[in-house]
Amino acid sequence: MTIDAAETETMVLDSVDRFLRAEVEPHVRHLEQNDIYPTEIVERMKEMGLFGLIIDEEYGGLGLSTTSYVRIIERIARTWMSLSGIVNSHLIMAMAVQRSGTDAQKSEFLPRFATAELRGGIALTEPDAGTDLQAIRTTARRDGSDYVVNGAKTWITNSGTGNCLALLVKTDPNAEPRHKGMSLFIAEKGPGFEVTRKLEKMGYRGIDTCELAFNDYRIPADRLISGAEGRGLQQILSGLELGRINVAARGVGIARAALEAATRYAQERKTFGKAIHEHQAVQLMLGDMATRTEAAELLTLSAADAYDRGARCDMEAGMAKYFATEAAVTNSMDCMRVHGGYGYSKEYDVERLYRDAPLLTIGEGTNEMQRMIIAKQQVERNKI
Ligand SMILES: Cc1cc2nc3c(=O)[nH]c(=O)nc-3n(C[C@H](O)[C@H](O)[C@H](O)COP(=O)(O)OP(=O)(O)OC[C@H]3O[C@@H](n4cnc5c(N)ncnc54)[C@H](O)[C@@H]3O)c2cc1C
Repeated sequence: MTIDAAETETMVLDSVDRFLRAEVEPHVRHLEQNDIYPTEIVERMKEMGLFGLIIDEEYGGLGLSTTSYVRIIERIARTWMSLSGIVNSHLIMAMAVQRSGTDAQKSEFLPRFATAELRGGIALTEPDAGTDLQAIRTTARRDGSDYVVNGAKTWITNSGTGNCLALLVKTDPNAEPRHKGMSLFIAEKGPGFEVTRKLEKMGYRGIDTCELAFNDYRIPADRLISGAEGRGLQQILSGLELGRINVAARGVGIARAALEAATRYAQERKTFGKAIHEHQAVQLMLGDMATRTEAAELLTLSAADAYDRGARCDMEAGMAKYFATEAAVTNSMDCMRVHGGYGYSKEYDVERLYRDAPLLTIGEGTNEMQRMIIAKQQVERNKI
């Protein structure tokens, strides 16, 4: 990292820390428990440039490295995971344009993504297609200078409050192999693009995740990312490593929040005449939680570093995502055990961590899929 980049990272991290402490922490419990969208916080995040964290500077972003991005996401998720989702899904959309867009698309959209004038996420999943994305049924049919989109999407984060999505469709539903008929569009809201329902969720509250319907929604042909049909799946999958590293960073954030809460409580709570951290059973949990958190962070930073160096990191990103998100799940449960009955109370943050963590094992490729990817790479890289 150059001195300039190191200074920028320190400056951004300091301001993120101050913002989270002063302007987010005091409001999380109320917003989360009542499933209220954090409008004022999002406005401040826009002012701070967080929606352009990894968008290139020439397009108005901060142009930070993946390693710096990881450190920021970790801090945000440690305070409230939903806020990291508001930024992350948006940046996955932006990165699809930055990586695969035409020059005209980059100049038109990236500056608007960086300021969050256009804000949103990615619309891939459908009622009958999640892991198996090639089974999607939403179609886009060419009609003059437009495409006409019909179909439905579900579980689309930021789609209620946002105004733009990277939309995965079939431009040729009969193509074989199926991915050759898939395309990705930059889809701004307009007639025929309808948010049909906000989904109720166990955790990840405050942030909107919705069902969408497309009924003869017209989209100009110049919104087709890269300008060529048939590359949509590849365009979205090429962002998966970065996506997995950022989900891993969220996992580290939750694992650390759980560790910090348990460490604090274990020193405050007394049973049988001593603080509970003096009981060996509690020590074993704290020891495991601390080790898991450190290991998760190191795996995540190592994958981010490989990504920044342009080194191959499919297996590394998979390992970081798998380990860090399982660490988040286990630490949140252990944190609850350390808190005894109080861990089950809505007056503590432990129960939120416990409800938020499992989502990380599902998004950006389920952890079952990660283990299969890791195993395949393990054999591939060690062929006898
Ligand atoms: C809160 C939330 C927010 C979300 N936000 C978004 C979003 O913004 N945009 C978006 O597009 N999607 C979003 N999703 C959807 C998410 O990406 C999918 O839920 C995820 O990809 C899994 O797909 P599925 O739910 O259809 O599960 P399925 O694919 O049906 O999987 C079910 C089970 O089968 C296993 N499985 C499936 N295929 C295989 C296989 N080949 N081998 C072994 N095991 C397999 C899976 O690991 C899992 O255990 C969100 C989901 C949630 C819950």
